[in-house]
Amino acid sequence: MPKFVYDFTEGNKDLKDLLGGKGANLAEMTNLGLPVPPGFTITTDACRVYLEQGQEPPELREQVSEYLDALEAKMGKKLGQADGPLLVSVRSGAKFSMPGMMDTVLNIGLNDESVHGLAAQAAGAEDGGETGRFAWDSYRRLIQMFGKTVLGIDGEHFDEALDAAKHAKGTQNDLDLGAEDLRGLVEAFKAIVEKEAGRPFPQDPREQMDLAIRAVFESWNGDRAKLYRRQERIPNDLGTAVNICSMVFGNLGMDSGTGVAFTRDPASGQTGVYGDYLQNAQGEDVVAGIRNTMQLEELGSLDPKSYTELTDIMAKLEEHYRDLCDIEFTIESGKLWMLQTRVGKRTAAAAFRIAVQLVDEGRISSDEAVDRVTGAQLAQLMFPRFDENAKTERIATGMNASPGAASGKAVFDSYTAVKWSRSGEKVILIRRETNPDDLNGMIAAQGILTSRGGKTSHAAVVARGMGKTCVCGAESLDVDTKRRRMTAPGGEVVEEGDVVSIDGTSGAIYLGEVPVVASPVVEYFEGRLGADSPKSDDLVKAVHRIMTWSDERRRLYVRANADTPEDAARARRFGAQGIGLCRTEHMFLGERRALIERLILAGDDDAERQAALGELLPMQRDDFVAIFTAMGGLPVTVRLLDPPLHEFLPDITELSVRVAVAEAQGEHNEGDLRLLQAVHKMHEANPMLGLRGVRLGLVIPGLFMMQVRAIAEAAAQVAKAGGVARVEIMVPLVGAVQELEIIRDEAQQVLDEVKERTGADVRSLIGTMIELPRAALTAGQIAEAAQFFSFGTNDLTQTTWGFSRDDVEGAFFSAYLERGIFGVSPFETLDREGVGKLVQIAVEEGRKARPELKLGVCGEHGGDPDSVHFFHEVGLDYVSCSPFRVPVARLEAARAAI
Ligand code: PEP
Ligand code: MG
Repeated sequence: MPKFVYDFTEGNKDLKDLLGGKGANLAEMTNLGLPVPPGFTITTDACRVYLEQGQEPPELREQVSEYLDALEAKMGKKLGQADGPLLVSVRSGAKFSMPGMMDTVLNIGLNDESVHGLAAQAAGAEDGGETGRFAWDSYRRLIQMFGKTVLGIDGEHFDEALDAAKHAKGTQNDLDLGAEDLRGLVEAFKAIVEKEAGRPFPQDPREQMDLAIRAVFESWNGDRAKLYRRQERIPNDLGTAVNICSMVFGNLGMDSGTGVAFTRDPASGQTGVYGDYLQNAQGEDVVAGIRNTMQLEELGSLDPKSYTELTDIMAKLEEHYRDLCDIEFTIESGKLWMLQTRVGKRTAAAAFRIAVQLVDEGRISSDEAVDRVTGAQLAQLMFPRFDENAKTERIATGMNASPGAASGKAVFDSYTAVKWSRSGEKVILIRRETNPDDLNGMIAAQGILTSRGGKTSHAAVVARGMGKTCVCGAESLDVDTKRRRMTAPGGEVVEEGDVVSIDGTSGAIYLGEVPVVASPVVEYFEGRLGADSPKSDDLVKAVHRIMTWSDERRRLYVRANADTPEDAARARRFGAQGIGLCRTEHMFLGERRALIERLILAGDDDAERQAALGELLPMQRDDFVAIFTAMGGLPVTVRLLDPPLHEFLPDITELSVRVAVAEAQGEHNEGDLRLLQAVHKMHEANPMLGLRGVRLGLVIPGLFMMQVRAIAEAAAQVAKAGGVARVEIMVPLVGAVQELEIIRDEAQQVLDEVKERTGADVRSLIGTMIELPRAALTAGQIAEAAQFFSFGTNDLTQTTWGFSRDDVEGAFFSAYLERGIFGVSPFETLDREGVGKLVQIAVEEGRKARPELKLGVCGEHGGDPDSVHFFHEVGLDYVSCSPFRVPVARLEAARAAI
């Protein structure tokens, strides 16, 4: 027969799947000999049966009876008996903490008779019995809680009756209601139940208990619980356990009370006990903040015996769990009871400090310390923040696209951003959306704010790459770039030059300057703050030690996506072991754009095209020399040009208007006309699926080979100067091996030629991105022609799902997230089942064809914690991500290996 019920003495902390977190820990404390009120737990198995079949498993009732009998025997009283009843709480408790999301019913066992028994029992207590108030108050709480959670009655009915009772008494305070008033209220509440639920409040204690158990099962599928699970990515099919625990009362008088405590400070991680205590109160009163709590230490003078016992227990719990614990306790007439414990939540800073403290205390290993912190926590520590104590005026909220905090003067175009920043102003670049033309403005700005586009929009991706604060898709803002102003939904108008502040962590947009505090952790990574420097606090020291352990432990190499020597240098400071993606497109912007126009306009005119390419070559070469030099011999993957060329041409509408206006004025600008024709010719309905990547290289003669030549000559130049350049030439958007073969053969020729001509030791691999499903599925063939693969998971996600990465988030992702189709955007965390499957196939097929094939990833997922674990599992050699994510990837790669 399946076992659906466990006494607290039967379980242990490792049975969270079965007993839920609360049940498992209550059992653990019971077995440690700590004072836990006796009780038992109904398993998550029972809940799952109930949820699947719509009724309790047939064995459950009998098993509950058996355990209830044992509990009654232990307590020496029966559930709800008329004189001195046993009362129990019925509490939910899933494997993962879901605070307040599911139901709980207290005081089960009270009825019209046992309420008198409870009053008599309480009479022995200091002031609990004098009026019977305590008993009647407990009874009305039961009917109210039961009515709401078990019978589904709208809580307002009870609130109204309570208000009426207070009104009649001429007070606003619950505590002024005496026993008689509460007795009247109980009658009123019972009438409400009868009317609203069409049945009387059950007087049979066992029926109360059974119905409460069922209500807890059902609350697993309550709206709040479902929403919370989606947000927290807790699986839907776990179910909850139910804990039946004998009641103890913290509201029996001034020698009773209730509190919460932590074995270390969960905010800072400092050692020492922390907590709050409230005299003569029940748990919910502490949460409701009805009265001011006292600091835990004060309990020491109030009730030294309980305090000493409590602090001893806390030390014991830490020792046992080898981690920060949080606890809930109650003192009933001077007797301490432990109601709950668990490994406590903590801030990011506390997590790092505590992990290192525990190593120093000899309680955990360095591996465990690395595993106790997360990349997400490290990322939090790296962003500057707004001072929490500052006064702020929020005018709108957008999407939190790239974390951090930034203030500056509003500017509405990149030209002004650059100009103002050159003269020392801090600016926030505000655009409806950004495009590659805005790059300089984005670099110049402290932060970027857009009113359109989601978390994978241009603004968001580029900002994250730069580690720059960005709020995107703030749709309630009306951004008028022509008039250089923005209007908020509340009517506030921000003109160019007005100061605004944006919080990339929350998405909030404020008027005026909000003070910012810098992150010492970034100062440390930047090398401006040594871990041993007297200025380093213990947080920096903790981060330093965790990172050192991580680097010793991880198998994956970590590279960075970097396109400039500055980014490359930063990437190295942050610990990157190479560049996994150097996007060459930014090298085609600015003044070089004219050359691209010339290249495109050349059409079939070979000489003209060669001339344009010839001018681009030395510029590209210089770019690469600088990057190779900055990387000092570490591998650099240079990707040949990827985006559609029309991105470098003027906007079709603007150009058409210019030409039309000129014509209307009788002017004839041949250049503009030809340009317009070219723009028309290149215009594509779906440019992301159009002439880009390897396709460009195949149809624009000389373009890719100009780039290869620039790379080879740069490498030769670095080698001649005594350096080393380890280059990996990467061909984007390959879908068929034939595409790659053509480019590879041409490139090899160029490389050989440069080697021969310069006599330099040019070390280079030629490989490809895997970013189309066809490439993944035919990876075996492609590997014959590629020395390495780098998974472009941005495009691979886009093409696998058929989602446009530029449009999708604003358009319908919120609906998808809300409806639980996915818990997180597949552009943020790799979709293991779909896209991941393709990655796996490509890894297997690729390695089969070429065992020494080097494998990496350079999509945004390379810096996402969960995705890093996946890439470790499937056996990639490295991940590559933006410089600011490098430390996160180093840490997560280690955690994946532990
Ligand atoms: C990718 O597609 O994952 C990739 C890295 O290339 P890009 O983002 O430049 O298209
Ligand atoms: Mg791509």
